[in-house]
Amino acid sequence: MHPQFINKVETKRNSSMTANEIRDSFKKFFESKQHAIVPSAPMVIKDDPTLMFTNAGMNQWKDIILGTRDPEPRRRADTQKCLRVSGKHNDLEEVGHDTYHHTMFEMLGNWSFGDYFKEGAIDMAWEYLVDVLKLDPENLYVTVFEGSPEENIPRDDEAAKYWAKHVPEDHIINGNKHDNFWEMGDTGPCGPCSEIHVDSRTPEQRKASGKSGRDLVNQDDPQVIEIWNLVFMQFNRKADGSLEKLSMNVIDTGMGFERLVRMLQGKHSNYDTDVFQPIIKAEQQLTGLKYVTFEEEQMAPITKQQDDINVAMRVCADHLRAVSFSIADGQLPSNAKAGYVIRRILRRAVRYAYTFLGQKDGFLYKLVPTLVHEMGDAFPELKAQQQLISKVMKEEEDAFLRTLDKGISLLDKAMEELRSKGEKELSGEQAFRLFDTYGFPLDLTELICRENGFTVNEEQFNVEMQKQKERARNAAAVENSDWVELAAGEQQFVGYDYTEYECHILRYRKVTQKKNEFYELVLDYTPFYGEMGGQVGDCGVICNEAETIEIIDSKRENNQTVHIVKQLPKDPSAQFMACVDTDKRDASAANHTATHLLDYALKQVLGDHVEQKGSFVSSDTLRFDFSHFQKVTDEEIRQVERMVNEMIREDIPLDEHREVPFEEAKKLGAIALFGEKYGDKVRVVRFGPSCEFCGGIHAKATGKIGFFKIISESSVAAGIRRIEARTGKECEELLYKTEDILKAIKGFFNNAKDLQATILKYIEEHDTMKKDIEQFQAQRVQALAQEIVAKGRIVNGIKVVTAKAPIAPDAAKDLVFKVRELCPENLVCVVGSVHNEKPMLNIMLSDDMVKDHGLNAGQLVREAAKLMQGGGGGQPHFASAGGKNTDGLSAAIDKVIELANL
Ligand code: ATP
Ligand code: MG
Repeated sequence: MHPQFINKVETKRNSSMTANEIRDSFKKFFESKQHAIVPSAPMVIKDDPTLMFTNAGMNQWKDIILGTRDPEPRRRADTQKCLRVSGKHNDLEEVGHDTYHHTMFEMLGNWSFGDYFKEGAIDMAWEYLVDVLKLDPENLYVTVFEGSPEENIPRDDEAAKYWAKHVPEDHIINGNKHDNFWEMGDTGPCGPCSEIHVDSRTPEQRKASGKSGRDLVNQDDPQVIEIWNLVFMQFNRKADGSLEKLSMNVIDTGMGFERLVRMLQGKHSNYDTDVFQPIIKAEQQLTGLKYVTFEEEQMAPITKQQDDINVAMRVCADHLRAVSFSIADGQLPSNAKAGYVIRRILRRAVRYAYTFLGQKDGFLYKLVPTLVHEMGDAFPELKAQQQLISKVMKEEEDAFLRTLDKGISLLDKAMEELRSKGEKELSGEQAFRLFDTYGFPLDLTELICRENGFTVNEEQFNVEMQKQKERARNAAAVENSDWVELAAGEQQFVGYDYTEYECHILRYRKVTQKKNEFYELVLDYTPFYGEMGGQVGDCGVICNEAETIEIIDSKRENNQTVHIVKQLPKDPSAQFMACVDTDKRDASAANHTATHLLDYALKQVLGDHVEQKGSFVSSDTLRFDFSHFQKVTDEEIRQVERMVNEMIREDIPLDEHREVPFEEAKKLGAIALFGEKYGDKVRVVRFGPSCEFCGGIHAKATGKIGFFKIISESSVAAGIRRIEARTGKECEELLYKTEDILKAIKGFFNNAKDLQATILKYIEEHDTMKKDIEQFQAQRVQALAQEIVAKGRIVNGIKVVTAKAPIAPDAAKDLVFKVRELCPENLVCVVGSVHNEKPMLNIMLSDDMVKDHGLNAGQLVREAAKLMQGGGGGQPHFASAGGKNTDGLSAAIDKVIELANL
């Protein structure tokens, strides 16, 4: 027996720890190992074009690993909110069906940036799990990379050697490249990894399977699962696929918090722990349905229907967390990008609640209070924004349920058509259209179809889906070449103080997107502000005596400005002057400052609940989204404008504090935003009473803004308003435009002195004339009706009234109704009319013709309209059709009479 296993009897695990205590114990343990405990980065990523959501603890350290940010402190640990619903890690379809994958989960992690490596990471992980938490070592298995001959990487004997200190050989398993070689992306840092798996099967399950835990590692057994992955980054993958050594070895570990809690609480499903049980209890209360836990299921097997309920409750409990946390992080459900991903998660939950939990009204939002009660202490952003989360969720749920209704009635119609054609299968195109426009997933369509005795052509559906994916891929495909290094070093941003600066190119690379080619440059010193925090990036040039290269945009990536150019300089290693386009920069700086003043004024006028929810600042406009629960009135808008303009006229100078420790900045009264990532040191921007955390470019004094005018106020989502405004020169243009329009209007009214009174008079005259015309038309229709009825024939006791008249469609319709008033019985009336050279046919039947003679105006009109190249429809007693060919009108009228078969 392995020495570590001998004391096992004394080290009984402590199953009474709560989730919150377990989270704390992780932090305490790594603190005792000299790790800096850092906060979770936001789950929603704002400034990385390659990633929408944090999907692993290491995301926020990418720039350290890539060597563009100071690695101190070299040991760190945290719990990170992760979301795995898109891109490389997408567990969405598993969630709810299994018991250990979530969309949003917490990843506990510890890092070493060039400090301890494999041995330290392995020893600490073992010490924490076995000595501190008392997990039974006999249930733990570890994997090591088996090596890759074609890449010339040997087996990770080093890691195996360190594991052998703790576990016997038969608990160490070789793993392949898929499970045991970690890569950041197609290129970049990578290396072997070691996973720790736990065999959590019950004694009965072990007996029944007859397999050892070792045999079940990485075999998708729900009771033998990975809890911790230790990544040893030691290589850098280049674009040609080859590997080189990293200059600094990195330890990156990630442990699934919910899975750890489950092991410690002796449960067999993450959902049976105190992380999820309170939410599941609330679901049971709201729905009156029961959730069956793993233990209960062992006693008595469950029905298919109960299993559906179980899955649906897990889906809702899980998705509630994902959606709530992203709203708290500032990402609302929307139509595009990250917002669309969140919308899809929410819709998945609504769909399960609708289908399996019988929830026809909003449901998820009712669970928010329970979630906040459970997690609000560890994640204060939830508590602070509870009202907003509930409102947004309810509105989204309601909207989607309406869409579901619409989709269902469309599906009903489609099935009706199949029935009439005697067919049994809904086409894949139709199913895909339902999916694409109504968010109707295939399984729901199938479910409804099945209930009605139809099937769905799944193969065709998948073909359509594939086509769409390809379209999306082609639109988004970006190809990056390797960076070409000209000099080593980190970039210095000098843009707060300079708009021109001497520089060299440190590195560059080629980027191909949709056949367009451009280059990205990183300079050693740059005054260029890369797009960030809603403010657009600077444009300008880099130049020297030999040449001038235009910089068309600048982005922020991995903590540095990346300059976009269409062509490389002939001599990239030369010295350049980097010059920012100051007209544009000054205008966007003024707009940015104006958003700060606007934020301040909104809080004064509307109240302290106003919180920034997004902003966009460019050289010609500014947009500001904020939480507020009703429309901002015209009066309030004026008040805000006056307050901002007052501050502009005061010409308050910029008071800027760089590199202020975070806590000190808070003491200064600076406003921090939820969902924003702040370093230890922050920049504080103050203009008089307005004080914010901000890394953006600002005007030197508020006077530079010139003038401020709100041009629109609208709703973006439940509880979120959007203001758009203009400043300075744009306001001047706005004023001229308004003046020109007013002048033009005056011109229409002969330059009337009192324009308003004149227009009012015109409107009154117009209204009176309209009434007169309507009256006149009614009289004309009346007279016409009498005239055509008088001319009508009697066929077999039935009055046949036909006419052709040059009248407008609504008059023609009135006409046939008038005829019916005159002859309420035994009537067949067909009126053809021509208006704007388009023929129109109206058919009116008396009720007895429908009831007793079996005539149907809708059917008659469809047949007859063909003769004038048209179509239409209507009710049994009245129908109309339009057409293209006026010459066919008489024939169409005759056709109706012929079909009526009198
Ligand atoms: P699995 O194979 O179980 O999907 P993984 O290989 O995707 O795990 P990693 O990317 O190595 O996992 O992530 C590190 C740890 O995070 C895992 O060991 C696991 O404990 C946890 N984890 C990963 N994905 C999820 C998820 N969807 N829900 C909950 N925990 C997860
Ligand atoms: Mg996975």
